Amino acid sequence: MQTLSILGSTGSVGQSTLEVLSLHPDLFSVAALTANTNVDKMVQQCQQYCPKTVVMADHAAAQALSLTLRELGLAHIDVLAGAQSVSEVAKSQACDTVMSAIVGAAGLLPTLEAVRASKRVLIANKEPLVMTGDLFMREAQHSGATILPIDSEHNAIFQCLPHDQSKSGVRKVHLTASGGPFRGRAWDELTNITPALACAHPNWSMGQKISVDSATMMNKGLELIEAAALFGLPAQRVDIVVHPQSIIHSMVEYLDGSFLAQLGSPDMRIPIAHALSWPQRISSGAKTLDITEIARLDFHKPDLANLPCLRLARSAAENGGAAPAVLNAANEVAVDAFLQGRLKFTDIPRPIEAALDELATCSFSDIEGVLNIDNEARAIAVTQLDS
Ligand code: NAD
Ligand code: MG
Repeated sequence: MQTLSILGSTGSVGQSTLEVLSLHPDLFSVAALTANTNVDKMVQQCQQYCPKTVVMADHAAAQALSLTLRELGLAHIDVLAGAQSVSEVAKSQACDTVMSAIVGAAGLLPTLEAVRASKRVLIANKEPLVMTGDLFMREAQHSGATILPIDSEHNAIFQCLPHDQSKSGVRKVHLTASGGPFRGRAWDELTNITPALACAHPNWSMGQKISVDSATMMNKGLELIEAAALFGLPAQRVDIVVHPQSIIHSMVEYLDGSFLAQLGSPDMRIPIAHALSWPQRISSGAKTLDITEIARLDFHKPDLANLPCLRLARSAAENGGAAPAVLNAANEVAVDAFLQGRLKFTDIPRPIEAALDELATCSFSDIEGVLNIDNEARAIAVTQLDS
């Protein structure tokens, strides 16, 4: 029996994880669930999955949850509050596996705690890897934690690499990108895009932040940096190919000319089930792919001239140092401002460029250094919002 704690259980990946678990009550039990503010969803999850502990990062939400659980006769579930408590459950001995599914930089410290406690860590939350790069992977090597990628592209690459994950014989990895809801449209035509339009992804149903990142293609830029960190490859050996059908989730190209690809329905339960059960296989609940129904698979190069966010990410990836952390922090500020109606869709790159202009050449040597750079980049990005 694997005991699992889910960081970000009320989100899109968190809920999909619980759906997979519910198919296999004999294999998994839930130790802790954590979320930020969504009390209603957490109450439902407590009723259905009976965790031992829940944490709400938001203190008021924790209080409200505690009251409701008492009224429902679920007072035996421990309710904790605050970011520090999220980190505590991530490293607690009560679990052996941690699903890292918080969105954004808020997931960095708890995910690191899980890594330092040598857990099996399932990484959906890509921003911490983008921020810290190989520092994160060195922590994992040091503690002996097992890192299993959940992002569908990275999970696909993991599946296509040799079993020992060695890169000998690998020429390149190719990340596939659906192109998001505005594929084929000129960037300049997108000035009046609303959050609702940006979040309507053609193939995947996801949280708001990653949906906006997919619409700007920053998501693929973050994934490029994530892949370089996870698999220890230079950014120049990570290619991006637009593949509108989202059937091939990524490919590994070998020196002999072979390409290995992973195919499946665009459903996060597939990589989640893969990582939960690795190196075994379990059912995920996802629709199986009817290969005869796929009329065609298209691929083309992304038009970087028309994709400013992807361009910025590619250049941050190739610069290295603090540039990816700066890019990530400023992007979080910009996306948040866009979702709040404070920034136009086509202005999302502006605060990111401003932060990179000032800080791209900085470097860091430890996690504290990353957090300082992250703060500085956010401060610069904010100055660009109402100008
Ligand atoms: P989401 O917005 O649906 O859920 C985010 C979760 O994090 C929620 O449970 C929320 O309560 C929690 N959270 C938010 N802020 C927090 C804070 N400050 N402290 C503690 N908890 C907080 O997001 P999502 O779409 O599930 O994505 C989660 C992560 O997984 C992101 O990093 C995203 O890039 C990555 N990812 C998502 C998908 C997908 O299909 N949704 C696919 C690949 C990768
Ligand atoms: Mg992805």
